[in-house]
Amino acid sequence: MVSVIDATDLTDPSLPAGDRDGMQVRIHRGAREIGGSCVEVASGGSRIVLDVGKPLWAGWDEFVPLPEVPGLADGSDTGLAGVVISHPHLDHFGLIDQVHPKVPIVIGAEAQRMLAEAEFFSQAGAVIDADQFLADRVPVRLGAFTVTPFLADHSGYDSYSLLVEAGGRRLFYTGDFRGHGRKARLFEKLLGHPPAGIDVLLCEGTHVHPSGAADAAAAPVTHAARSEADVEESLTARMADTAGAVAVISSAQNIDRLVSVYRACRRAGRILVCDLYTASVVCAIGRATLPQPGFDGLRVYVPNAQRVRVKRSGQFDRMNLIRACRVFPEWLVEHAEKITLLQPQSAVAELEHAGVLAGGTVVWSLWPGYLEDAGGKRFQAGLAEAGVPFDVDHASGHASVRDLQRFAAALSPGVVVPIHTEGAHAYEGLFDRVAPHEDGEWWEV
Ligand SMILES: [Zn+2]
Repeated sequence: MVSVIDATDLTDPSLPAGDRDGMQVRIHRGAREIGGSCVEVASGGSRIVLDVGKPLWAGWDEFVPLPEVPGLADGSDTGLAGVVISHPHLDHFGLIDQVHPKVPIVIGAEAQRMLAEAEFFSQAGAVIDADQFLADRVPVRLGAFTVTPFLADHSGYDSYSLLVEAGGRRLFYTGDFRGHGRKARLFEKLLGHPPAGIDVLLCEGTHVHPSGAADAAAAPVTHAARSEADVEESLTARMADTAGAVAVISSAQNIDRLVSVYRACRRAGRILVCDLYTASVVCAIGRATLPQPGFDGLRVYVPNAQRVRVKRSGQFDRMNLIRACRVFPEWLVEHAEKITLLQPQSAVAELEHAGVLAGGTVVWSLWPGYLEDAGGKRFQAGLAEAGVPFDVDHASGHASVRDLQRFAAALSPGVVVPIHTEGAHAYEGLFDRVAPHEDGEWWEV
């Protein structure tokens, strides 16, 4: 049973305890957009916040204030039991620097380490001082709440879906997830043994198309999504078919993609040459099974921008990590036919000028939407002018509509509430028992 309630019911301490039982929720951002997710959950005088994302429409240097959660910015409300960050993507954690230090923060330990390391290289990093850590299926207590994280398959590393329990109610927040990445078995495991008695499924719908349910149901989006295994397969074939170097453009924090590219390299007999940012974050994660400096067939090229960044900061010990496996442009040219570069977009021009890409190819392994803007078009035009072939080879970080439907059917929640989507109104044609809510509206679970 879901009904709209007045926010004043939640904050009035004079209310009898019985009236404050159950669970109340308001989505601050995400009811009608992808990114910037923030959800406040209340029960028995205690509140928690799920994610404090920066909206995707905000520029890198644009200031976006925190959503109006009492105590979040000034630490003045002891009822605010904590902020849980589902995963280390900016559109889920990006406003964390405005959260008052008194407010406890919970995030995955590996995600925390990765973001701290990334801070040197990118605005997509952050130093977060967490009070507790998320770990697969280990419950965390926050005020009146028990939050049980489920490690999720997503393009962000150390990502979780969250089971939130309080006041006799159970809410399941998917966070961002998919069923076609390198951890697809986690998705299937959850489908096979879903938590029981879920009252509300707060379900991401990145791929629920705003054009409408009937249209979405007929469109290819409902088919199985292109998977990380597909990317590994096609990259392996591309490496075999290319005479020169293959340059893959990806995000340094997309560890699943690093694994896919490394595996393709091993299969094709090529050496993977990643950048310092990628090498640094993967080492910071601290998981010995992930491809990192010291692995067979892995070298590191430090692109100019990262070299200058190290020099300006004086943090020369950052190079110690890669001393034994660092390579330079002459080496890249000499070994072009047996290397695959995993580098940022900004490194492509210098590689091209150095002659590394002669006879080679460039592969865009990021969201193709980035290619639509002026910068993306310029980038492609530059490659065309240089005569370097260009292609897109990517798998989405988000579940296909078909997988979302399988997931909702398996959980069989009391209601499905859309979040992280531009297609909230299309949910009704795709799922049973849908109850959309607006940003800022309190509702009862
Ligand atoms: Zn994400």
